[in-house]
Amino acid sequence: MTGTRVHRRQFLKSAAGVAAAAFPTPMLSQGVGPPVVVIGGGFGGVSCARALRKADPRIVVTLIETNPAYTALPHSNLVIGGLAGLQRQQFGYDKVRLAGIHIALSAAAAIDSQARTVTLAHGASVNYERLVVSPGIDFRAGAIQGYDRRAAELMPPAWNDGEQVGLLRRQIEAMDDGGTVVIASPVNPARCPPAPYERASLIAHYLKRNKPRSKVIVLDAKESFAMQKLFEAAWQELYPGIVEWVGLSSGGALASVDVATKTLSTDFDKYQAAVANIIPPQIAGRVAELAGVADRTGWCPVDAVTFESKLQKNIHVIGDAAIAGAMPRSASAARSQGAICAAAIAALLAGKTPAAPTLTASCYSLIAPDYAISQRGTYRPVDGQYVEADGGAIISLLDASRETRKAEAGEAGAWYRTVTGELFG
Ligand SMILES: Cc1cc2nc3c(=O)[nH]c(=O)nc-3n(C[C@H](O)[C@H](O)[C@H](O)COP(=O)(O)OP(=O)(O)OC[C@H]3O[C@@H](n4cnc5c(N)ncnc54)[C@H](O)[C@@H]3O)c2cc1C
Repeated sequence: MTGTRVHRRQFLKSAAGVAAAAFPTPMLSQGVGPPVVVIGGGFGGVSCARALRKADPRIVVTLIETNPAYTALPHSNLVIGGLAGLQRQQFGYDKVRLAGIHIALSAAAAIDSQARTVTLAHGASVNYERLVVSPGIDFRAGAIQGYDRRAAELMPPAWNDGEQVGLLRRQIEAMDDGGTVVIASPVNPARCPPAPYERASLIAHYLKRNKPRSKVIVLDAKESFAMQKLFEAAWQELYPGIVEWVGLSSGGALASVDVATKTLSTDFDKYQAAVANIIPPQIAGRVAELAGVADRTGWCPVDAVTFESKLQKNIHVIGDAAIAGAMPRSASAARSQGAICAAAIAALLAGKTPAAPTLTASCYSLIAPDYAISQRGTYRPVDGQYVEADGGAIISLLDASRETRKAEAGEAGAWYRTVTGELFG
């Protein structure tokens, strides 16, 4: 273990600040096992923190998270479509704390991989034997001309920010009938590849009932997308003439935006948006760069068994930030990776060899409240990369009945309640 005394003094020094409130007194007297620090209190980070405590209760787990409440993005498209309230997506960390995990509500501002310390925005620092980084995604700067911080406030991505989910909902509600909602969908790799199309569907569901002269256009930087045939068949059936998809070869890649006129330009055309939802190209959350675990692609290469970074020893990366082969960037995958990473860390700390893992990921897409499709997969490492096992991903059938779609919508709701209940409840 490294520098525990210095570490305690640093906490005590900040007793009047947020850090003191964030680290309850028990932590200061509880240094019985090796310290493991987890950055990011989302699906990956909370799953890992909880699994670490279960694997070996002697491990002192500290979870560092910027925000006092987490906004879950799965099912947030229901909020944007006016079918659920934002509160349903929001979770505090009280129950996580009760599981014996120390919660530091502050941003991780610096990481010293030699000294093995994380410095918080409020100045306190915490040491680690092993560090887990699960910061989600950030946006690649300068990828779309004119899309700066101000533009992002007016044309929100609503892709990693709960406030923006509420903002986008309000913009669609305030839009006149006849207005066009434009969604700009990014290149892969990106968070939750089917989610832009789920969003288009649930916006269309709202427009059909409330603004029948309006439509939603998806400008896509890709030539094809996840479960495309299923989405297109459903749009034809449920929302004819309301959803229009423009792929790469038809000029779908967004090149620039004019915030003042809400004009979106591709190399082929200009689109006048009443509401614009711009989802820029993505990279691992910025803290990955601070930790020195992101490579030139902006994402984080990891060992497929332990999720330890290939660039920094003793630092593990999970969730959307990690390069995990065929695994999609989803909450389901992040949760599974969190559990596997925790088991590997517990084994390594005990001087054992971690077992080769099998991971699962299932992703439902709601096209209407009673109509869902899904993709489920099992993944195993082969030659250091995750590949689809057991014959590949299982995708909903194109000719499934409405009863099956309804049953899948029920399963989607159950999945969301179960996962958020297990992690935050
Ligand atoms: C619209 C939409 C719909 C989706 N639907 C689904 C779905 O149906 N099913 C599914 O499986 N997945 C879905 N996803 C994907 C899912 O939300 C992500 O894959 C998942 O959240 C990834 O988990 P994570 O732990 O990597 O990151 P996150 O859940 O984003 O957590 C990262 C956390 O790290 C914190 N953080 C970042 N930097 C710092 C720092 N410096 N210091 C402290 N804390 C920091 C952030 O505040 C955040 O709380 C959807 C995503 C979107 C956008």
